[in-house]
Amino acid sequence: MPAKIYYDNDADLSLLKDKTIAILGYGSQGHAQAQNLRDSGCNVIVGQRKGGRNYDLAIEHGFKPLPLEDAASQADLVNILLPDEVQGDLYREFIRPNLKPGDILMCSHGFNIHFGQVTPPEGVDTLLVAPKGPGHLVRSEYVKGGGVPCLIAIGAGASQETLRMGLAYAKGIGGTRGGVMETNFAEETETDLFGEQVVLCGGVSELVKAAFETLVEAGYQPEMAYFECLHELKLIVDLFYQGGLSYMRYSVSNTAEFGDYTRGPRIINDQTRAEMKKILNEIQTGQFAREWILENKAGAPAFKAMRRRDRNLQIEDVGRRLRSLMSWIDAKEVE
Ligand code: NAP
Ligand code: MG
Repeated sequence: MPAKIYYDNDADLSLLKDKTIAILGYGSQGHAQAQNLRDSGCNVIVGQRKGGRNYDLAIEHGFKPLPLEDAASQADLVNILLPDEVQGDLYREFIRPNLKPGDILMCSHGFNIHFGQVTPPEGVDTLLVAPKGPGHLVRSEYVKGGGVPCLIAIGAGASQETLRMGLAYAKGIGGTRGGVMETNFAEETETDLFGEQVVLCGGVSELVKAAFETLVEAGYQPEMAYFECLHELKLIVDLFYQGGLSYMRYSVSNTAEFGDYTRGPRIINDQTRAEMKKILNEIQTGQFAREWILENKAGAPAFKAMRRRDRNLQIEDVGRRLRSLMSWIDAKEVE
């Protein structure tokens, strides 16, 4: 059965007319969703802690940020747009005690609800509206008259009314302009984690690192290795994005295409596929979630060490130097 996808005509914004929506966290998703909803005519309040850049930003954007507990208690729809790893603790302390029957508890990623870190009180439905893109794009596409496609899901026992409310919300942030695909919490959470671990973040980063190091160890110039293994990846991904694998293969040389068919399966082989299944199993059984939750409870020592280690890789030094000479690419640095 093809996936169910909703568009503008399937959603009724007027369902939100007398509702107050609390956006908790004015970060990447929060700042975008709050402003889009407000521009769509919804009543939006922002819950954001004091002291950081995002608090000032919310004020600059014309909101009056409240403490999380006040925003939660004043709203009918409460959307938790805080970092996933702090949601459980903040929810138990500030949000759950302020929910009342009939409220809808929302999120943009199902991790905490699916893995039981955020549990709704009696009479509160859970709802996921997850834009499939970063917050700055959710905002900029909306401003241009477009929208970032979204996923929608309702939690166990939630009503069809909650689904309609979710479609209205998705329309308010511009999602129904791009298409809103129906899913469930398990599918959204598990496929999202799998995609980022195996392909988007984990898989691609390791592939690039290993290939770069192979060339450098064999005596080739690091700058050459950087261009071949990292820089050019964007050009290939752009072709995937426009026309799938076939269009990439149509655009590259026949030599590259022949190398693709004959060498690719030796890099991603039966052992790699078996490891993918293992990683999927760790996600499905909650083993990964447990590891990440406990890592954070311990103050994230391993996470910080791995981040430090990878920021000091040779490929990062070489890349920084080369990008600083490419004025057109809008080079970024992280501290
Ligand atoms: P984010 O940019 O990291 O923003 C988090 C916000 O929460 C910030 O305003 C931050 O305020 C606040 N915050 C952080 N720690 C806090 C604490 N201990 N107490 C109170 N407030 C705290 O988060 P995000 O990337 O938008 O992610 C929000 C949700 O959207 C997550 O569930 C994520 O999975 C989901 N999502 C994100 C994306 C994306 O592209 N980013 C895409 C789809 C879904 P300060 O400035 O004071 O730290
Ligand atoms: Mg994702």
